[in-house]
Amino acid sequence: MDHFDVAIVGGGVVGSATAYYLRKHGFSGSVAIIEKDTTYQFGCTGRSLGGLRQQFSTPENIELSKFGLKLVRGLKTEFGAEADVSFHENGYLIMASESGMPVLEENHRVQMAGGADNIILKGSDLMARFSWVSGEGVAGACFGLSGEGWLDPYSLMTLFRKTAVAQSVKIIPHELTALAADNERISSITLSNGETLTCAHLVNAAGAGAGHVARLANIALPVGPRKRYVYCIDCPQATEALHNAPLTVEPGGVFFRPEGRNFLCGNSPEEDDEPADLNWDVDYAWFEESIWPSLATQVPQFETIKVINAWVGHYDYNALDQNAILGRHPEIRNFYFANGFSGHGLQQGPAAGNAIAELIMHGVYRTIDLTRMGYERVMRNEPLFEKNII
Ligand SMILES: Cc1cc2nc3c(=O)[nH]c(=O)nc-3n(C[C@H](O)[C@H](O)[C@H](O)COP(=O)(O)OP(=O)(O)OC[C@H]3O[C@@H](n4cnc5c(N)ncnc54)[C@H](O)[C@@H]3O)c2cc1C
Repeated sequence: MDHFDVAIVGGGVVGSATAYYLRKHGFSGSVAIIEKDTTYQFGCTGRSLGGLRQQFSTPENIELSKFGLKLVRGLKTEFGAEADVSFHENGYLIMASESGMPVLEENHRVQMAGGADNIILKGSDLMARFSWVSGEGVAGACFGLSGEGWLDPYSLMTLFRKTAVAQSVKIIPHELTALAADNERISSITLSNGETLTCAHLVNAAGAGAGHVARLANIALPVGPRKRYVYCIDCPQATEALHNAPLTVEPGGVFFRPEGRNFLCGNSPEEDDEPADLNWDVDYAWFEESIWPSLATQVPQFETIKVINAWVGHYDYNALDQNAILGRHPEIRNFYFANGFSGHGLQQGPAAGNAIAELIMHGVYRTIDLTRMGYERVMRNEPLFEKNII
């Protein structure tokens, strides 16, 4: 029976980053990533929009994303001169209606205290900076002057994975199907090929499948898939200014950002409108009914557009509070969680991987204190709500 010092379930950005930071911090034990889909096509990471922002309401989320920003800015130092994740530092522009302004302004104060570089824009200041905005129903907006934008998710994940593999991290191309625990420890892992492994530490980095993996050890983790649609639209009359837009979120939550000569857009549905099925079929009626009208109201140039592509991604959704669950299980002491990022895990994957590596190696967080994000709040049913979910 093979034994690994660290086994990581899931080789997306979070699992790959965990392996990478273990090696970066000098962990010399054996490390394996168990990944059921080595094409990485169905995971959350490859289907993400790649947004990176400091516009959160939870201080820890700002810290987690700042870690990602620092990495992206220093990418060539970290991974070598050829490394590139196509970071577009165009900012986020999050708009609010009159009733949404108190929350936007309160979040802005939290963000400034956390070292973010953003401003509140109202009325003519907003229109002067972004001429393509209609401003209908908009009382104000928060704009990231620096440190926000988007990057290529697949490239970031691949940098972590390839660097880890070059440092003898093993990829095991099977599904984890069963867990055995005794004496408050995960004692063995069973794979879809029937093989059984043992490990000293097990990291759950299974994305939308994290709740299922936890249940294999009889642990309730409120993380599961939520279906989301991303639409790619062509807007032939878009001006240069619109092509240089930030990632923009209108007051109803519909968002868009430039993607080459096109634009990506979408929206997260209200709880009652969540798609019931979890297949990979795109709902084009949802675009016509719920996305396009709001887009065209806020950006009149989007009145004439064509959907040229669309895809489905499954959010790794934490139903308790839409925030990551990070850290060691309080009772099963060799089982670690890095789950439930609920739409902001691409930018937080590097910091989450680093944090789990610190816990495994030192037993404590050294870079960012993430104690509040631990599994304990799930046990106590005490949500730590993030207000800025996109
Ligand atoms: C449409 C969309 C847009 C998004 N936009 C953004 C954004 O703008 N900014 C942002 O920061 N985040 C965004 N996200 C969220 C972000 O993509 C995720 O939070 C992040 O990628 C999670 O990474 P992960 O490594 O945990 O999960 P994944 O990338 O899903 O990796 C988990 C891996 O675990 C594997 N796995 C699962 N179960 C098992 C098992 N039992 N055995 C073996 N392997 C298993 C899966 O095959 C998968 O490869 C978006 C997500 C979606 C869907």
